[in-house]
Amino acid sequence: MNQPSLAELLETSAQGRRIHKEEALLLAREAEFFDLGIAAQAIRMRRHPEELVSYVADRNINYSNVCVCACKFCAFFRAPGHAGGYVLSRDELARKIEETQAVGGTQILLQGSHHPSLPLAFYLDMLAFIKARYPEIHIHAFSPPEIMHIAKLSSLAPREVLKEFIQAGLDSIPGGGAEILVDRVRKLVSPNKCSAGQWLEIMRLAHELGLKTTATMMFGHCETLEERIEHLLVLRRLQDETGGFTAFIPWTFQPDHTRLPLPKTTSITYLRTLALARIVLDNIPNVQVSWVTMGSKIAQLGLFFGANDFGSTMIEENVVAASGVHFRMSRSDIETTLQEAGFRPAQRRMDYSLLEPAKRAD
Ligand code: SF4
Repeated sequence: MNQPSLAELLETSAQGRRIHKEEALLLAREAEFFDLGIAAQAIRMRRHPEELVSYVADRNINYSNVCVCACKFCAFFRAPGHAGGYVLSRDELARKIEETQAVGGTQILLQGSHHPSLPLAFYLDMLAFIKARYPEIHIHAFSPPEIMHIAKLSSLAPREVLKEFIQAGLDSIPGGGAEILVDRVRKLVSPNKCSAGQWLEIMRLAHELGLKTTATMMFGHCETLEERIEHLLVLRRLQDETGGFTAFIPWTFQPDHTRLPLPKTTSITYLRTLALARIVLDNIPNVQVSWVTMGSKIAQLGLFFGANDFGSTMIEENVVAASGVHFRMSRSDIETTLQEAGFRPAQRRMDYSLLEPAKRAD
């Protein structure tokens, strides 16, 4: 079969034809900036015909920053024994959840680090404490590398850990710790973290056990363009099998205060990657912008490059903030930003059901 021309490729992919690796590479390398955006936006508008952009009101709560992984891109962690290490007390956890609820938050994204000694019971008690005290809060918690780490520390199979977490109150899993799902890259930037295969396996298990999860990509560090595309393709393959990913969330590596002194990825590369993701990931329904790393103006542009969701309010965010990037938005800031871009804002839950009808743009 003849390889389609770039123009044919843009046209047929915009119509929804699944593209393969070489075609994705051709688009990534040669498509004009706006042509790529237009193709991605055609797919987005077909999938989500209403001019509505959703967001979730939540808070990132990092229960601990004590970590044995020492990923080179991370400015957040503290090595065991460091004076700045912490584990949140129950009182601090409760205060953070109550503050979240007070401003209309419905969920917490609960993530930590790879703590060297917290036992399984610590995590189970934390989940049970939250569920008993705040039954209406959705607990979106523990990235695949954390789950793999906890399983190893407890000498349990990851499936057993997941089952225990679900029983204790876990509602869904965030797609953190994916970085780039290619082991060559992982060995360079996060050599002590789980492999790409293990990340995917935890997600497969979670989906089999009935949990919904998100998928992420942190790009713009040691990966090649081919490896970025490989990342998208392994997610697409798993989604074909399980259908468990609700959304894809790409963001750019933030180099300040890290051990990877690389130049920052440009907004153009971010928007091109967002558009390419919408085109390649034809089976993941939602694509989020990352205003936390890109700021509100580039995030608005992302809504014309294939994204249909504004992510979350992140009442608290510590990991990106540790690299010196401090974008902040309240619920009303997000709603105004979406209306200014011509969309109707709608607060949603993790599963993308809406809390109330979307607001008008005018
Ligand atoms: S990214 Fe996570 S696992 Fe890696 S060093 Fe930071 S806290 Fe630890």
